[in-house]
Amino acid sequence: MSDPAIGEILVPEDKLAARVKELAAQISEDYADTTNGLLLIGVLKGALFFIADLMRELKVPCEVDFMAVSSYGSATHSSGVVRIIKDLDLPLENRDVLIVEDIVDSGLTLQYLVRNLKSREPRSLEVCTLLSKPSRRPEAADVKYVGFEIPDRFVIGYGLDHMERYRNLRYVAALEQQG
Ligand code: 5GP
Repeated sequence: MSDPAIGEILVPEDKLAARVKELAAQISEDYADTTNGLLLIGVLKGALFFIADLMRELKVPCEVDFMAVSSYGSATHSSGVVRIIKDLDLPLENRDVLIVEDIVDSGLTLQYLVRNLKSREPRSLEVCTLLSKPSRRPEAADVKYVGFEIPDRFVIGYGLDHMERYRNLRYVAALEQQG
């Protein structure tokens, strides 16, 4: 796609695919003894492709559900105040639950999600994120599986958008700010 808004490619397609396989292998090993399967919870819309690719590589019985949240604040800065737009269909009680995120930036959205989902009494609750911007957080967020640590730049592609566009890029690129 030739578009001046698409900047430097930070994670190319082959690296994404290889890392998704590695993460899935690790998760499959960690949940090998699950009693009633792993429940993946995708956070819409950014985790769309990541969760689809990850799930297809898993070797343990698994189910999927989705949640949509919106954080109040500007487009580029999360305020930590989160509203649930679409809640889960499935109950979490006594389930092994894995939250699948596109990106953890300040970690505020995740903090809210973890608190909210823990109150539903899952058997276990862990987090897997494709991307993480560690330089943006004062302390390490509680994320067990991280695909890639990236610098503090606004990124698009592989599910991540800028004003709803660019989700369909096969790679993760920096957004070229214009004007
Ligand atoms: P946090 O609460 O961790 O600061 O923000 C997390 C959410 O902000 C992500 O789920 C994502 O929707 C959005 N976000 C944070 N950084 C980026 C980025 O670089 N690109 C895009 N497209 N969204 C981002």
